[in-house]
Amino acid sequence: MDYQRIFTQAIDRLHAEGRYRVFIDILRDKGSFPNAHCFAGHNGPKPITVWCSNDYLSMGQHPDVIGAMEQALHEVGAGSGGTRNIGGNTHYHVELEAELADLHGKEGALLFTSGYVSNEATLATIARILPGCIIFSDELNHASMIAGIRHSGCEKQIFRHNDVAHLEELLAAADPAAPKLIAFESVYSMDADIAPIAEFCDLADKYNAITYLDEVHAVGMYGARGGGISEREGLAHRLTIIEGTLGKAFGVMGGYVAADKVIIDVIRSYAPGFIFTTSLAPVLVAGALASVRHLKASSVEREGQQASAAKLKAMFAEAGLPVMPSTTHIVPLMVGDPVKAKRVSDILLAEYGVYVQPINFPTVPRGTERLRFTPGPTHSEEMMRELTAALVEIWSRMEIQLAA
Ligand code: PLP
Repeated sequence: MDYQRIFTQAIDRLHAEGRYRVFIDILRDKGSFPNAHCFAGHNGPKPITVWCSNDYLSMGQHPDVIGAMEQALHEVGAGSGGTRNIGGNTHYHVELEAELADLHGKEGALLFTSGYVSNEATLATIARILPGCIIFSDELNHASMIAGIRHSGCEKQIFRHNDVAHLEELLAAADPAAPKLIAFESVYSMDADIAPIAEFCDLADKYNAITYLDEVHAVGMYGARGGGISEREGLAHRLTIIEGTLGKAFGVMGGYVAADKVIIDVIRSYAPGFIFTTSLAPVLVAGALASVRHLKASSVEREGQQASAAKLKAMFAEAGLPVMPSTTHIVPLMVGDPVKAKRVSDILLAEYGVYVQPINFPTVPRGTERLRFTPGPTHSEEMMRELTAALVEIWSRMEIQLAA
């Protein structure tokens, strides 16, 4: 067996399709985000502007967050030293879970080392515990939800993206006696659209299903206290499980689920991805705690971000750039070809000091490759004007079609 050849061929296939991933080597400048430095090439770190961070509100740079992390580091040291069951259940963890349960109006919450793990571990565990459970999953659900659903071993039914009628068709055709779980996201981050949460909850009531909502791209961002779209629409109480991350709008790291006490107890007691792993470092939990508390009380960051997103969408549209329809904080620009998307991104970085990552298959379907901009409250109007001008120049140089 020529292992080397097989591995090399696997990588060659990615190059041939133009979707080999190159990680851009950067350091953010604390206190002046979105400014950062890039270590690509040989002429030393060069200044860049970051346009694709999921630290949507720059909370990773917030003085309260950094202060809390510094204090935790000095008071209790670096790591937690154990799993939650064996020595790693620090008071920071307990406090943050209470804060997150309150954020979503639930009886309890449970922390994981990432949003990915929270989805995988919870979906696999909850569904496995329900005998004969059928999972109804939106076709655009995140890879971590798909992994969890697969690991549950349950029957899976895929409904068309955000399609209430199709979901109902599938629910109506299923065995009325079977337990059912409907799994979906609120904000789909690649298409920048929002699920019809109320209608999905109505169907859950009608067909006696439980619901699982991934609010990863919405927590911190929407709702008066940052509880996500479910808070904004007054629907949190109708959802069985709400899942979120601490790594995007909250600017730190980690994931969680919030639900009734008994469900939290089941996940805590049965999910291998929760049980058999060292708990989050207290310093991370302290930072997340400060961030969640801050965004519960302050909407300044959310409002600034929404204003930036609206401004950038308007500028792109006015310049004739193919900005995709978006009712959210994300601004995707369609390119439709993996090689061109990578080339635009390379030129932006090399010639304009603009960093935006191309998004390729499997993150998005083939033929819909795009650039995904995430303007934050600290992106200035001048930065937006420069970015728009650069894109118009590159679009013309590469003879990419402008919007009709
Ligand atoms: N769910 C969705 C919809 C995501 O987009 C992501 C990450 O990009 C995750 C879950 C995983 O979250 P985390 O980055 O905290 O692992």
